[in-house]
Amino acid sequence: MLIIGSPNTECGLMAGLRVLECGGSAVDAVEQTLRVVEEQAGDGSVGLGGLPNILGQVELDASIMDGRNLAAGAVAALQGFLHPISVARRVMELLPHVLLVGQGAFLFAQEIGAERAELLTERGREELEMRLRAVSGTVAENEPLYRRVQALLGFRPGGTACAIAVDAGGHICTGVTTSGWAFKYPGRVGDSPLIGAGNYADDRYGAAACTGIGEAAIRIGAARSVVLRLSTGQRLDEALWQVMQEARRLKLGVPLHLNIYALSESGEHALCSTSRERAHYLCAYPGDREPRRLPALPLAALGDAPACT
Ligand code: ASP
Repeated sequence: MLIIGSPNTECGLMAGLRVLECGGSAVDAVEQTLRVVEEQAGDGSVGLGGLPNILGQVELDASIMDGRNLAAGAVAALQGFLHPISVARRVMELLPHVLLVGQGAFLFAQEIGAERAELLTERGREELEMRLRAVSGTVAENEPLYRRVQALLGFRPGGTACAIAVDAGGHICTGVTTSGWAFKYPGRVGDSPLIGAGNYADDRYGAAACTGIGEAAIRIGAARSVVLRLSTGQRLDEALWQVMQEARRLKLGVPLHLNIYALSESGEHALCSTSRERAHYLCAYPGDREPRRLPALPLAALGDAPACT
C-alpha cells in the first residue's frame, strides 16, 4: 500500500493514506486526496480559487482511472462545481462514457447532486485583470480573444494536482485535477482529463500522471507511453527518460514544462521533471505521520540510469 502525489497534494495525501489504512480502495484514496486539494482556495491551479480562462470563468478538468479494469471517467471545462474529481469518478461508475465536457458535464454534475461552488475568487479576478492591464498596450479592446491569449503566453501560472495510490489488494488508481492553463482560450482542454495523455493506470504494469504544459503531454500521449514502456519490461527511470526525450523534441511556442509522476507494478515510483530547480514529489506508506518528500530524477543524469525510489 502506498500513495504518491504532486507537491500540492501535501494537504490531502495523508487523508488518502488513511483511506488505504482503513481498507479503502485505491480509487477512494485518490478521490479523497484530490478532494482536499480542490477545496483549498489558496491553490490557484486546482478547484476553488483556480485561475480563470480569458473570460474570467474557472473551467475545471479532472480524470480518474482504475487500474483493475482500465475503467476511467473524466470531465473537462466544467464550471461551478467544487469537486471535479468526484464528478469524474461518477462518470466512470454511472455512464458508459469516459469523458463529458462543458454543458454536458455540468448537467451530469447537477443530476448526481455534486456540490456547487463559486470557484472564482477575488484573487483570481484580480490576477486576470492585472494580466490584461499589462498587455492592454499591445492588444486593443476590440481585438479577438485569441489575440489576448497569445499576448498572455509569457505568463503561464498553471499547476495540477495528481495522485497515484496502490491499495491492499495491489490495485492501482490515478487521479488528476486542475483548472488548467491560466487565462486559456475558453473551452481549451488540457491533458488532465485525457486518458493516455495526463493519466493512465493499469494494474499489470503501473501508472503515470502528468502536470505542466498539457499540450506537450497530449501530443506525445505521455502517461500511456510510460505505462506501455513498462509493459515491455523497460525500467521505470528509462521509460520516463525516453518519454521526456520525446517531449523535448516538441515545438510548443512556450518553454517545455512537464512533470511525469509514475509508479511501476512492483511499487517503484519516480518523478521526471523539466523543472530547473530541484523538483520533488510526495509519498506516504502505512504508518507514516507525514508525507515523505522525494527528489525528482535529475534530468541531466537520466542517461546514467539513476535508481528509482
Ligand atoms: N497540465 C495542466 C494543463 O495543461 C496545467 C498544469 O499542470 O500546469 O491543463
